[in-house]
Amino acid sequence: MTGTPPAVAPPRVLTIAGSDSGGGAGIQADLKTMLALGAHGMSVLTAVTAQNSLGVQGAWSLPLDAVRAQYRSVVDDIGVQALKTGMLADPDMVVTVAELLAEAQAPVVVDPVSVSKHGDRLLADDAIDAVRDRLLPVATVVTPNLDEVAELTGVAVEAATAEADMRRAAERLLAYGPRWVLIKGGHLPGEAVDLLTDGASEHWLRSPRHNNAHTHGTGCTLASAVAVGLAQGLGVPEAVRRAKEYVTGAIAAGFALGAGIGPVDHGW
Ligand code: PLP
Repeated sequence: MTGTPPAVAPPRVLTIAGSDSGGGAGIQADLKTMLALGAHGMSVLTAVTAQNSLGVQGAWSLPLDAVRAQYRSVVDDIGVQALKTGMLADPDMVVTVAELLAEAQAPVVVDPVSVSKHGDRLLADDAIDAVRDRLLPVATVVTPNLDEVAELTGVAVEAATAEADMRRAAERLLAYGPRWVLIKGGHLPGEAVDLLTDGASEHWLRSPRHNNAHTHGTGCTLASAVAVGLAQGLGVPEAVRRAKEYVTGAIAAGFALGAGIGPVDHGW
């Protein structure tokens, strides 16, 4: 013990997600984002991937008991002020995590991670129903990209009709029960436009496109940054606005690593 008075504890944020051995996405991106934005990050690991800048070479789910035990350890002692989910791999994992989150006393950001930028599936095809029916109802905010939107709602967002398509998809997603929907339009050409809505209000978030190929970990980073904002007590629109600003900077500073797609830079 020293004579130094204890520092005020930073906001506590829990990520429930998979590991990316390459350190660019997944739980590693989540924890780096939380550190960069001033939160204390904690992790419940759902799956381990063998992964690098070229793609995912292998993936293994953890036993469901191990997931429940990690969650109990963190929540029962340390407590959480916001939670975030990422790679959940298979239907049993989705249901197990949804059951844990149903009793959460803090906001939940659901990143419905489905396929990586390299085209590797991080969620089994037969887990999509469980995401829709079990996970979305417990979400404060769900943050799908356009591929995930198509899988979850059947709406294919086209560049020419993007606004109307995104509105229609958001309505369908809201019907599953999340409080807010953030549809990320970053995969469309031109300006990166996202739609945030709770059904009563609509926010269009625009940012210039950075022509940087090194964008590995973008989705994890955005969802984690939103969770930090919520843990700090911000409302959803302000938490999303700040998170988008952070991820835009991280994409602009993304760097080459390995022979493939490098990571966004969390420390920019
Ligand atoms: N690996 C893990 C463990 C992830 O959770 C994710 C995304 O959420 C990815 C890889 C994919 O990252 P990206 O699509 O940004 O390359």
